[in-house]
Amino acid sequence: MPTYILLFGAPGAGKGTQSAILKAEYGIPHVASGDLFRKHLSENTPLGQVARGYIDNGELVPDDVTVEMIRNRLHEPDAAQGAVLDGFPRTIPQARELEKLLTEFGGKVDVVLSLKVREATLLERVASRSLTSGRADDHPDVLAKRIRVFLSQTLQLEDYYRERGLLAEIEGERSVVDVTEQIHAAIRACTSK
Ligand code: AMP
Repeated sequence: MPTYILLFGAPGAGKGTQSAILKAEYGIPHVASGDLFRKHLSENTPLGQVARGYIDNGELVPDDVTVEMIRNRLHEPDAAQGAVLDGFPRTIPQARELEKLLTEFGGKVDVVLSLKVREATLLERVASRSLTSGRADDHPDVLAKRIRVFLSQTLQLEDYYRERGLLAEIEGERSVVDVTEQIHAAIRACTSK
């Protein structure tokens, strides 16, 4: 059965770092919706053209466009054994669509890891990332909006997954190694249920 691990966290919470570690450990790809969107933008695909305005403003891209992009990605051969999903789902409708989609693959969401980091730390981390990332949406004004969007829309998802017994809250301010250890413990707890 494929393994699907979801990572939640505000911009700067450490999703990218931990996804890379999980990818190496489980041999499943890191599927980051933000990275997929940025690829579409750089290649100026029709999907990229639809998504650009939303992304530049720090708003969520509409669910139908986003779900279609993830569906296509999860159909690629390297995702046959599952994926670490980073940045998706971000809304309840996306979570419902994901459930249907994973059933098609004979899988389900195995665990949801929520990286908890204070807003002041997020702002600090992304400010230093913005010096090298070249991402227009790492600009402080856009970032503040992305964090607001995250807090208002995405936190509801935690309740959704908590009710299903899948949510693990991870203290994301600790060292990378410590965060990874918390993640291992959470995966063990969820997969042995
Ligand atoms: P990220 O790199 O995950 O912070 O995503 C960058 C931007 O891509 C976000 O600010 C949104 O505009 C868009 N995006 C990424 N993932 C999603 C998603 N699941 N739903 C809607 N928009 C998304």
